[in-house]
Amino acid sequence: MTAQTMEELVSLCKRRGFLFQSNDIYGGIKGLYDYGPMGVEFKNNLKQAWWKSMVYERDDTEGLDASILSSPVVLKHSGHEDTFTDPLVDCRACKSRWRADQLFENNKCPNCKSEDLTEPRPFNLMFKTAIGPVDDGSSFAYLRPETCQQIFTNFKNILDSTSRTVPFGIAQMGKAFRNEITPRNFIFRVREFEQMELEFFVKPGTDDEWHEYWINKRLEWWVNQGIKKENLKKIEVEKNELAHYSKRTVDINYVFPHGEEELEGVANRTDFDLGSHTKNQKDFKITSEVMKNSSSTTKLAVQDLEEKKWYIPYVIEPSAGVDRGVLALLNEAYREENVDKDNKRILLSLKPHLSPIKAAVIPLKKNNEELVNLSKEIKFNLQKLGLGRVVLENSGNIGKNYRRHDEIGTPICLTVDFETLEDKSVTVRDRDTMKQERVSIENLSEYYRKYFN
Ligand code: ATP
Repeated sequence: MTAQTMEELVSLCKRRGFLFQSNDIYGGIKGLYDYGPMGVEFKNNLKQAWWKSMVYERDDTEGLDASILSSPVVLKHSGHEDTFTDPLVDCRACKSRWRADQLFENNKCPNCKSEDLTEPRPFNLMFKTAIGPVDDGSSFAYLRPETCQQIFTNFKNILDSTSRTVPFGIAQMGKAFRNEITPRNFIFRVREFEQMELEFFVKPGTDDEWHEYWINKRLEWWVNQGIKKENLKKIEVEKNELAHYSKRTVDINYVFPHGEEELEGVANRTDFDLGSHTKNQKDFKITSEVMKNSSSTTKLAVQDLEEKKWYIPYVIEPSAGVDRGVLALLNEAYREENVDKDNKRILLSLKPHLSPIKAAVIPLKKNNEELVNLSKEIKFNLQKLGLGRVVLENSGNIGKNYRRHDEIGTPICLTVDFETLEDKSVTVRDRDTMKQERVSIENLSEYYRKYFN
């Protein structure tokens, strides 16, 4: 079961500290959200799982964390200054603004139903900000609209500082900004979000095969995070809808509570980006329509040792949205169950590696020094294992603690009771089955480790 409506998720997220409307106490700003105590843990765990699979578990990738403020020259050469636009229409009757391709009824304002709309005109989605103390428009930067351009501009730095040869990839996670005309559907379409992007450089001619490889790898990864296969769809992007850099793009769509939409895009960006940012373009056989006469000072090419020729690699890009991942996984994990005929419970059946809290240690009686001290010691020892956040719950209300931890997806709760003082064991309650078992304190670290592996 998933959530029935977006409202159920929005309500859980606010109630339990996953997500809050940003600038809430001053009325909020549309399209911006803040991750609360549970949200930040969950989001970090998701990013960590991605990093593990993209960097630690592979032998052909490196990581990067580049600046967000981007030079206009970079975004000119990448094509964003000219083409990173959405079609904007104004409603002359109620003065609202819409994305022309997202009007539900053709040529009707979704707000007031008027048909008095302007012709669509291109609206650039990039945010600009002044650089330096004088804001006269002469010196500015863009907040990056995607994380990958700095991967391309660092291509040679990374080649020179590592011993990589093609095929290899560069991974980066971080913020991206888009001035979306109509942010909506909770954290699905926002103006500030995070991406997890890999740029995987390959020899031209091997690109189709690598593209297929990454489409399948990424689908498999989302399934491993807990999304049911049947809720993921591979969608071939139509030729006339491809981004300016793409030879072929396959979207991985997910059935969100508001409908099926893109979770991740896997694109074959060809030699467009490295080609556009490279020095002396005429020395290379560049296949894509790049920005001609690059002012770059660096050759972004590699040598083919067999053919003794320099060439510009093609790049395959799996690009996933962190926030859309958070939304999809919360939706997948959401359950409502009847505990008995009078009681219902809500739980998040998250994979343990993603759960914001890994275990809660609960002394049966609050303020009982012996029980609380022993609980603190257990918490400290589990925390030391480094598998994620462990908390001490000292309210003395076990039922309430179980309810809270079910709702935030904590896989196990450990209760320290008076018997514990005698038999040196605790009661471990499993979130999904609600089954309880006694585990000796001595074996707790091993039990806990096994649970998370
Ligand atoms: P859409 O068509 O939904 O606007 P896109 O095709 O423009 O998305 P890409 O440029 O391919 O998106 O960006 C890669 C990923 O970044 C997307 O798959 C999505 O997960 C995420 N993303 C893009 N725009 C947003 C946004 N406004 N809010 C949240 N995530 C986003």
